[in-house]
Amino acid sequence: MSDWLGLSGRRAVVTGAGSGIGQGSALALARVGVQVVAIDRDDAALATTLDMARAADLPIDGVACDVTDSAALSRSAADLAAVDILVNAAGIGRAGSLLDLDLEDWEAVLAVNLTGYLRTAREFAPAMVERGGGSLIHIASISARHPQPGSGAYSASKSAVAMMSQQLAYELGPSGVRSNSVSPGLVRTPMTESYYQADGVAQRRDAAVPIGRVARADDIADVVVFLASDRARYVTGADITVDGGFSTRLMGTVPRPGFDG
Ligand code: NAP
Repeated sequence: MSDWLGLSGRRAVVTGAGSGIGQGSALALARVGVQVVAIDRDDAALATTLDMARAADLPIDGVACDVTDSAALSRSAADLAAVDILVNAAGIGRAGSLLDLDLEDWEAVLAVNLTGYLRTAREFAPAMVERGGGSLIHIASISARHPQPGSGAYSASKSAVAMMSQQLAYELGPSGVRSNSVSPGLVRTPMTESYYQADGVAQRRDAAVPIGRVARADDIADVVVFLASDRARYVTGADITVDGGFSTRLMGTVPRPGFDG
């Protein structure tokens, strides 16, 4: 069981690796011996990840790059050796209801959360195809299946990513390249931290999850590591929900007299 995952010596690119789930995934992959390149547009956040890696003696390099900038992404990719694993975690949200939302905000969210994921796949997957293997992992969300009101294009972007991942799985399967998405529920990260600063929200959110707490980034990262590994060799085109049971709660939200216990 010492190297159950067999990931030692593999190479990965992780986007959004300066913060939250991307950072957790980069560190978790590095801990099992993967050489990681961390990509983020936020220089300071990226430096924090690299400091954490250095302090723990983990093999992580960093590249500052915005995944919406095709030219910059291509230049960065050209400077890197071929990778075996791509984790797409760079994501954003913009508030707004669908009828009132500024279309620029709609486009901005899709540019990062959907087209950004495709751009990186197009940069890094061809070398995997050439070498006959690789793993693409896209962080989607349970809001792909459960519309998140007031969140503009967010749910639509995540739904589209889950389908894009399946299509990649279909198109690249014959080449030995797998593609899967991971759908987290409530995760406490810098993206969501402001919610938890409001009185009582952390406790109410913990109580809303059957497992009794919202997720940490490493709860999601461990599933990413599994999907990256050959232990998931027959898993492709899948979406793995990692939400502590939160999305099972629909039937519990309506009254059923006589069945309330
Ligand atoms: P986070 O803490 O905000 O981390 C995301 C990182 O991606 C940030 O450093 C961010 O930089 C970076 N980024 C954003 N746009 C980028 C771009 N165009 N190019 C390069 N880097 C960019 O968010 P998180 O909570 O870890 O979320 C990671 C992923 O999980 C996202 O796709 C998110 O939608 C998804 N997710 C999160 C939750 C949750 O509850 N937290 C639940 C389900 C799914 P900036 O700070 O400059 O934006």
